[in-house]
Amino acid sequence: MSIITRTSDAVEPQDWRQLLAGSFRQASELLHYLNLQPADVELSEQACRDFPLLVPRPFADRMQKGNPQDPLLLQVLPQQAETLEVTGYITDPLAEKHANIQQGIIHKYHGRVLLLAASGCAVNCRYCFRRHFPYQDNRLSRKQWQQALDYIRNDNSIEEVILSGGDPLMLQDEHLQQLLQQIEAIPHVRRLRIHSRLPVVIPQRITTALCHMLADSRLAVSCVLHINHANELSENDLFRFKQLQHSGVVLLNQAVLLKQVNDSLRDLSELNKQLFEFGIVPYYLHLLDPVKGAAHYDVPESQARHLHQQLQQILPGYLIPRLVREEGGKRHKTLLPS
Ligand code: SF4
Repeated sequence: MSIITRTSDAVEPQDWRQLLAGSFRQASELLHYLNLQPADVELSEQACRDFPLLVPRPFADRMQKGNPQDPLLLQVLPQQAETLEVTGYITDPLAEKHANIQQGIIHKYHGRVLLLAASGCAVNCRYCFRRHFPYQDNRLSRKQWQQALDYIRNDNSIEEVILSGGDPLMLQDEHLQQLLQQIEAIPHVRRLRIHSRLPVVIPQRITTALCHMLADSRLAVSCVLHINHANELSENDLFRFKQLQHSGVVLLNQAVLLKQVNDSLRDLSELNKQLFEFGIVPYYLHLLDPVKGAAHYDVPESQARHLHQQLQQILPGYLIPRLVREEGGKRHKTLLPS
């Protein structure tokens, strides 16, 4: 792992936990902050009750004030369309219930296992395929943590542990460190992958302590960020992503193709260029998982393939993410041709 310069966390301008605590939880407050009126958007109280609004301030700061069609706002705003029943849109679109073989563990893929390290997120994305996931059944006691780690210890085909959630970076650094040490002590585990949206919605989560911890790990570490639009990345935070990268962490991105958010050639090409400039490899472009309440984000597969084909005509190959769909019960993602 590469060496990074050590500085005190005391120099961090703002603590991510304070920023998280100050998140918007009321749609009216978020709209007021963005200079919008309730009449400007199709807000739904029912949708707010079903899946509460949660938006950290640094993410709201990336939204354009006065624009009800802002692509970041549309990802987090509880809209009336969520309450419509649409055939084929269900609560567990990836059939994870069957792969949730014990508390805290989802084992779908060969050689890899998902450890549900945290049940909360820093942002509630309305299109999330786990928006109905029974996190309350997967909150682990100390004993259950040990059982989850025993599961990994007892299956020596598992080479990669994927920290998922919720968002695993919701864990405090000390807890993350303890978890990391326990995983590192399992000889057959070689790689650690962290799926997180926190570095995007609260970039201050990329603390110096976190970077040191990952730099010092014996595991090969990757972090999969979930960025859907170029506006989510601010030049002001470039140094944080560089710090993470200089810690030896491979940064990858999985975007979801979302109607009115990023379903244009311009938005997608700008996203992939911006990712690369931040040291993040465009990895996957996912079709929407058909989760109940998210049908209004759907982009038809034919349109997705056409967009992907157009991307190939204007961008170099290393800026083209793989177009994929995930299907419940399948042991790998389905690659879609352009
Ligand atoms: S951060 Fe990830 S897990 Fe959390 S709501 Fe958004 S998409 Fe879902």
